[in-house]
Order: sequence, then C-alpha cells, then structure tokens
Amino acid sequence: MLIETHSHLNDKAFDADRAAVTDRAFASGVGKIVEIACQPSEWAQGEAFCAAYPGKVSCAFGAHPEYTKTLPPDLLAQLELYLAKPCAVALGEVGIDYWWDIGPKEAQLALLNLQLPLCAKFNKPAVFHARNGKTPEQNAYADLLEALKGWSYKPARRFRGVLHCFSGNWDDARAGLDLGLALGVNGTFTYKKNGYLRDIALKAGIDNLVLETDCPYLPPEGSRGQRNDPSFIPEIAAMVAGHLGLSNGGVADKTTANAFDLFGEF
Ligand SMILES: [Zn+2]
Repeated sequence: MLIETHSHLNDKAFDADRAAVTDRAFASGVGKIVEIACQPSEWAQGEAFCAAYPGKVSCAFGAHPEYTKTLPPDLLAQLELYLAKPCAVALGEVGIDYWWDIGPKEAQLALLNLQLPLCAKFNKPAVFHARNGKTPEQNAYADLLEALKGWSYKPARRFRGVLHCFSGNWDDARAGLDLGLALGVNGTFTYKKNGYLRDIALKAGIDNLVLETDCPYLPPEGSRGQRNDPSFIPEIAAMVAGHLGLSNGGVADKTTANAFDLFGEF
C-alpha cells in the first residue's frame, strides 16, 4: 500500500470529477489519502470528504500563510473544533512563503506561532509549507527552521512533522531531520532540473521520506502542464525506487511505515 500524504482534492480543479479521481487513486495502489484543508472555508468540506471515504481519507486542518490577511478573529477556536474531530490527523499546512507577496515575515511567523501549540494540545504532527523568495535574503526555510527550535511538541512517534514538497538545500534538510521532521517527496523529484532534490532524498534516506502529490499542482515530469492527482503516487514511488536503488515494494513499505510514524495509525 502507498499513502498519499498531501492532496488538495477539494480544490475547484476537481469539482467536475472528484469522486472518479478519488476512486482511480484507490484503484492505482494508493490505500490512504491525507487531504489538506488549509483555510477556514475548506475545513467543513474536508471533514465531509473524509466522511465519504471512512478509513481511507483523513484530513489536516490549519491556516496556510497565504491567508494571513483574511483570517477570522476566532480562528483558533474554530480550528480547535476541527482538530478534535476523529478524521483529523495533523495541523496544516502551516509555515512561511516568500515566493508570493502574501504578507510580511512578522505576520507569517505570528500565524505559525499561534497555531503550533495545537500540536501538543491535540497530539498531532504538523504539515509544514516553506517556499523561499526570489532573493537569497527571502529564506523561508531558515526562518521556519529557526522558529521550530522553540517548538516543544514531543510525540512518542518518530516524526513530529513534515517539510512537505521539500525544496530547500541539504543544510535545510539536515536541520529538519534533526528537528524530527520527515521530508515530503512529490512530482518535483522527477523534474529534469531537480537533480539536487534527488541527491537530498538519497542522502536523507528512505527512512525519512513520505510520498505526496500536492495536487492539483506539480504533476511528474512526463505529465507537466496537466492536472495532478493522487494516482501519480505509484509513478513518483517508482522514480524514488530507481534513484535510491530500491524495489518499488520496498519504497511502498518504507514510506507507508514513515507515514504512520508521522500521523500515527489512521
Ligand atoms: Zn499543499
């Protein structure tokens, strides 16, 4: 079984065929999906999506930095209601993004630090988003990893979070691993120009990787320009297997075990 650890199937890109896409994903060898509901308007939809696929779809609830300027004053109270639900497996995605002009560092860090204590309160890991800006000073990884040095959440599981869609350098990866974070590998691993990502995955080792798509964006190399969806997970897994010198079954077993070490049994 493979686990898709990061989908946005509630995106409007799937409005016409969401059920068919989800069924196709399960038919492809994906056994479980973690859907990411990362702004208040998506939370109820995320819960309903889980209810339609019991035992197969679970959800992360949180507020992405993209929405820093538009969040309700009672954000935390609302978010706590969702993190208490049986379908909730993580806080997220939360983090720092300097690629888009979505708000100053201070406001993004404040939103992150507001939400982080919920992990300990609900014993759930966090799904982290980090995207560097266009100049070297706009280092989202450095700022996120620095902020996490003060994060006190210590679960019994091996991982307390994941750097999803990892796009940093080896020093960022090393710092993340030292903080108890897994690395999320998706279609960007397959892009021709991303040899550095494949090298980081090799150095980090299969014991620290989880698979994801981040659909509807970032399909694998051969399907760029198309809509992404979780049925691409086996293709991403096969690319990881090829690069790390492992069998497809070995990658499935390890990344699935890692996903359980991250989210707990779900
Ligand atoms: Zn995402």
